[in-house]
Amino acid sequence: MLTIAQAISPPLDLHRTSLGQYLLEKKLISPVQLHAALAEQQVTQERLGFILARDGFISRKTLLDAIIATNADQIHSEYVFSNIVPGELLLSTQTMVVAETDSVIYLATLGSEKQALVEFAPYYPGIPLVFVSANFEQMDNYLEDVRAMLQDDDSLVDKLLRKAFSDGVSDIHIVPRYNSYSVLCRHLGVRQLTHEGDLDEYNTLAARIKDLSRMDLAERRIPQDGSFQMEFNGKLVDLRVSSVPTTNSEYITIRLLDPDRVQPSLTGLGISRVDDWRKGLSRPEGINLICGPTGSGKTTTLSASIRELDRFGSSIFTLEDPVELRLPYIGQVNVNPAVGLDFARGIRAFMRTDPDVIIVGEIRDVETARNAIKAGETGHLVMGTLHTRSIHGAAQRLRDLDVPANELVYLLRSVLVQRLIRVICPKCKGARCPFCRDSGYSSRTIISECAYFPTDVEVSRMLAGERWWPSLLEDAIALCETGATDRKEVIRVFGEDAIVYFNNVDNFGHASALAKLPTIEKVN
Ligand SMILES: [Zn+2]
Repeated sequence: MLTIAQAISPPLDLHRTSLGQYLLEKKLISPVQLHAALAEQQVTQERLGFILARDGFISRKTLLDAIIATNADQIHSEYVFSNIVPGELLLSTQTMVVAETDSVIYLATLGSEKQALVEFAPYYPGIPLVFVSANFEQMDNYLEDVRAMLQDDDSLVDKLLRKAFSDGVSDIHIVPRYNSYSVLCRHLGVRQLTHEGDLDEYNTLAARIKDLSRMDLAERRIPQDGSFQMEFNGKLVDLRVSSVPTTNSEYITIRLLDPDRVQPSLTGLGISRVDDWRKGLSRPEGINLICGPTGSGKTTTLSASIRELDRFGSSIFTLEDPVELRLPYIGQVNVNPAVGLDFARGIRAFMRTDPDVIIVGEIRDVETARNAIKAGETGHLVMGTLHTRSIHGAAQRLRDLDVPANELVYLLRSVLVQRLIRVICPKCKGARCPFCRDSGYSSRTIISECAYFPTDVEVSRMLAGERWWPSLLEDAIALCETGATDRKEVIRVFGEDAIVYFNNVDNFGHASALAKLPTIEKVN
């Protein structure tokens, strides 16, 4: 019989798996993270790599690279539903796409390798194709799934979602009209029409999506919310669904929360003065703010920031509306006004649970602001988001929510203001190609304004209007000058201010145009 001590802390050998050892040596995970994943594996018996990726310790890409480096013959336990190769070809050649990386494609086939090589090569120009041994049962299941995806009706939702995942879509909009309906997908912040169908198809699709997300199928007169999860290429993906009754049936939106898209570290997000933000996070108490409008990437920055904290050594709670990205080992709470659980009450509840860090999804009312300040004053590190567009605006917003200036002075640590801007496609340099879905832009990066306040004196100087930082627009202009984005995109994001600036550049030159920007007074 096990003693309680033995049962609670089973001895774990961190070096027992080559995958774990490799990730440790490359410093891609910490011993504490590996220990936690191995402990979880003892209970669930799942694959170690799968657990590490699901818990957000490594990205799916890091996992594939690590498997290839340590146990390339184990790669057959992975698989992807490729959006590049048509399903018909997978079936006719009896082939499975095991893994797609930037430098090599792994395939397994029950048929002829030679034939598969000839047929697949055109889809992966310039990338070597490598065959690995196939596990018959897994191949069989994979091909069965491909077959199911190719059939219409039932798998319409499946096809739609898988295509959206492969394309990196963030939201799917299903828009009914008088006698047809459209599917529009948001990619890098901009919607594109991707499908048109008849109303019978719409009805099938809408019913299936509502069923999956546990909504009331019969109810079509009031807005509903729901969610479901789907496994896609070995990742568990959350899908959040909303329906709104319109004059033509229900308008349905699906938000895809791809865990890999939010994996980047703070360093990889493109925040110009990220070290100033980090300094605020490193303080044991006080308040740190992330600011920007909806859709400015605040959630991604927030979760990257949380991942840099010690999730095991510190007790971390988040209050969100709703929880978007699951972070294991953290207490994540959905606000639920219907039962009286709002932001203000949530913070009060957290204070009784021995927390170190409290994260408030949004500070938008007096009571929430007061409780967040109280948490910061009583030895907790608080992070929160605000819908403001500048550092001075953030301080003013808290003052508007009745936070006294003297408390702000002692508690404010760092403020980050951000927006997202599209980056020019590296393959076609903006000329539009299949890689960037004919948009000319391949990804998005953060433009930001950031300040760290080491002392109360610094906050006082900011409140007195004596301190300024390079603005969002200046950060975007700097990015534009490197060629990473273009004038058209800066104008799309900033409108008139950017037009005026670029006109000044053309008429009077750079230095003069910069001097005409409203917040040119620099720090120091
Ligand atoms: Zn391109």
